[in-house]
Amino acid sequence: MSLMCLCLLSQLILTVGFGNSAEQHEGTVALRTLRRNHVEVQQGSSFKIALFADLHFGEDAWTNWGPRQDVKSIKVMSTVLDQETPDFVVYLGDVITANNVAIGNASLYWDQAISPTEERGIPWASVFGNHDDAPFEWPLEWFSAPGIPHTHCNLPNSSVSGEECFRGTPRIELMKNEIQHNTLSYSRNGPTELWPSISNYVLQVSSSQDPDSAVALLYFLDSGGGSYPEVISSAQAEWFNRKSQELNPNSSVPEIIFWHIPSKAYKEVAPIFRIHKPCVGSINKEKVASQEAEMGIMKLLVERPSVKAVFVGHNHGLDWCCPYEKLWLCFARHTGYGGYGNWRRGARILEITEKPFSLKSWIRMENGHSRSEVLLSS
Ligand SMILES: [Zn+2]
Repeated sequence: MSLMCLCLLSQLILTVGFGNSAEQHEGTVALRTLRRNHVEVQQGSSFKIALFADLHFGEDAWTNWGPRQDVKSIKVMSTVLDQETPDFVVYLGDVITANNVAIGNASLYWDQAISPTEERGIPWASVFGNHDDAPFEWPLEWFSAPGIPHTHCNLPNSSVSGEECFRGTPRIELMKNEIQHNTLSYSRNGPTELWPSISNYVLQVSSSQDPDSAVALLYFLDSGGGSYPEVISSAQAEWFNRKSQELNPNSSVPEIIFWHIPSKAYKEVAPIFRIHKPCVGSINKEKVASQEAEMGIMKLLVERPSVKAVFVGHNHGLDWCCPYEKLWLCFARHTGYGGYGNWRRGARILEITEKPFSLKSWIRMENGHSRSEVLLSS
């Protein structure tokens, strides 16, 4: 058998379901499969994911500076996508800076953020960060001599009133817009009983040799912030527990976790000053800004041998991975030009292989260099 055949046979694919527990209980999950020709040839038996964290589109939208940052963020994403040709992208929260967005529908900025991925035909999934549905904050400078700048509120013939314009776009609307308008989006509005947290769902990476057998399970959780406290609730922890028991009862399938705001456990493993072994990374420039409370999710994660790593954004000046009990806690890398901090931009990349399973990660910088490679599981 030629190498090409092996590559084609062992290519990993992504299937999706489980967003809604009723669907799963009734066993009626429609699995979508995914194949892209160039991936089959280039990537062989690996499944590669790019994490885009903290893009902050729409920041200072009324200035010249803001829109220029968004253009630069598009460039970072485009560079990473063209160099790495990932099979999948995860938007890891703070896609937009909603507290700066003074238009009726913040999804217009959201759409800009996903456009480089969408244009390249790469599927993606997203979770919410604390800025995505944050209420509009009136900037102090609007009340000084230059006055309130021209915003796009109160346009003639528009049905959106000024008041609505500053009301913000709720999580549920942002997600609905993303899903309805993008066939490549694998995001889900999670179970309604987890409200007000929204982006809670599971995706399965499968082998094309046997689409029913899972190579890895990807869990997405909404870590709050913006319109409600920064926390993963005990209801979400309970949902994770139920879901993981259902999908992976004997913990035989490796599990990978994504949310935006680091849990308190990140503080326990954070390197002091320089990043030193066993941690791996290249910037450690600030303190971990963790969730407000810990309500059980970490205890569940460490008790499952199948959970290999947690990936978060939120801290723009941190990009390390450190071991915590038997799993790894990792930061992504600040990808967007919106948001605080001038550290150079990049994206964390994950690579999953099967038979044997491995999870490798590195950071691809905007200038094309890669750094901080780490083997998280093998
Ligand atoms: Zn951020």
